[in-house]
Amino acid sequence: MTRSFLRCADPSCARESAPAPIAYACPRCGGLLEVAYDFAGAQPEGWPELWRHRLGGASELDRSGVWRFRELLPFLPEGQAPISLGEGSTPLVSAPRAARWAGLAGLEVKHQGVNPSGSFKDLGMTACISHAVSEHARVVACASTGNTSSSMAAYAARAGLPAVLFVPAGAVSSAKLAQAVDFGALVVETGSNFDQALRLLRQVAAELGWYVVNSINPYRIEGQKTAIVELLEQRGWRVPDFVVVPGGNLGNVSAIAKGLLELHRFGLIGKTPRLLVVQADGSNPFFRLWSSGGDILEPMDDPQTRATAIRIGSPANWPKAVRALQWSEGDCASVSDSEIRDAKAALGTDGIGCEPASATTLAGVRQLRNSGTIGEAAEVVAILTGHQLKDVDYILEEHPQRGEGVSLSLDQDPGAASRVLAAWLESRG
Ligand SMILES: *Cc1c(COP(=O)(O)O)cnc(C)c1O
Repeated sequence: MTRSFLRCADPSCARESAPAPIAYACPRCGGLLEVAYDFAGAQPEGWPELWRHRLGGASELDRSGVWRFRELLPFLPEGQAPISLGEGSTPLVSAPRAARWAGLAGLEVKHQGVNPSGSFKDLGMTACISHAVSEHARVVACASTGNTSSSMAAYAARAGLPAVLFVPAGAVSSAKLAQAVDFGALVVETGSNFDQALRLLRQVAAELGWYVVNSINPYRIEGQKTAIVELLEQRGWRVPDFVVVPGGNLGNVSAIAKGLLELHRFGLIGKTPRLLVVQADGSNPFFRLWSSGGDILEPMDDPQTRATAIRIGSPANWPKAVRALQWSEGDCASVSDSEIRDAKAALGTDGIGCEPASATTLAGVRQLRNSGTIGEAAEVVAILTGHQLKDVDYILEEHPQRGEGVSLSLDQDPGAASRVLAAWLESRG
């Protein structure tokens, strides 16, 4: 049986420790942890066929887009069933109009908003709530810009565990809060941004012995790494030139890099896509670090952007993200809120809805296309992280065509109504 353990993710330390109890930092250097495995005896050549065979199978676990790939995350004790809601198995679709908008011949989007709670966080949550159960955790908790808490609340409910979420007051979309309430989680409003909420939560959780499910939890990353495995499987293992993600706390890009690294070590892919991270101008500490070539991330005290899912000034996973971009020869871009708005509307012309944070990917692709980093014929996949209905206020307030509705009086003669509508159609060109 495969042995799993925790290891400091900083290669210059790499200290190994026991897989339990859960820890969020290296006991020697304080760095980020990762889950590692002793894969001796594994036979990865047969895995792609095995995974394909499970697709559409009769077992609930085989239909999960995370646990279908369980050979890559063998950390649960023998015989323990994962806590799953049928996550993953999300669509990969072409976006031809959005591609044209960005100056590309073609573009694909992997829609992680089509997950049980509406964001990619579910991939990580099924893994870490399952781990929490294996550790007999009594309470699970997180600080969140919204989607981590919706997801935690769902999986905690599924596991029968109480869930507590710390959110910045008034800074989370009502849809996301409503989801957490719907699943019976306790909502604690505190501070004005994510970073403050996380700081307080970590103190409280340490004192009360709560299990923290933020992306500093290395088991979250294990679930999230399957996104790239599924994406490559959907492309028949053809590796794209670029994979683009929004950057908030930088867990997503770290997870994708870990997945790629493992697939590469197992010989299942021969090369890696270049990873691109896109941040919002008002919340771009990682972009500043990357473009300045500095060594240490300088946190931003008052991050601002309407893409609230990535409104984070002190991203915990930045050292992993730096290594991800270095290893994959990737890059980082920063886009304005108006570029995000236009990119979101461009995706809409393909019938693809998403959260504002997800649309940073297309805005960043357009920018990097204009600067020549991405060629016109490049194969690009954008990861859309959250569902369109997560933030409808944003759409009604920000869409370029907001306020263009027509109201018709029932007293009006139908001919006049027809002329109004014909004129609208004409104006669209
Ligand atoms: C969490 C989240 C992000 C940011 O992901 P990180 O892993 O924190 O970088 C982006 N978009 C959406 C919709 C999210 O929920």
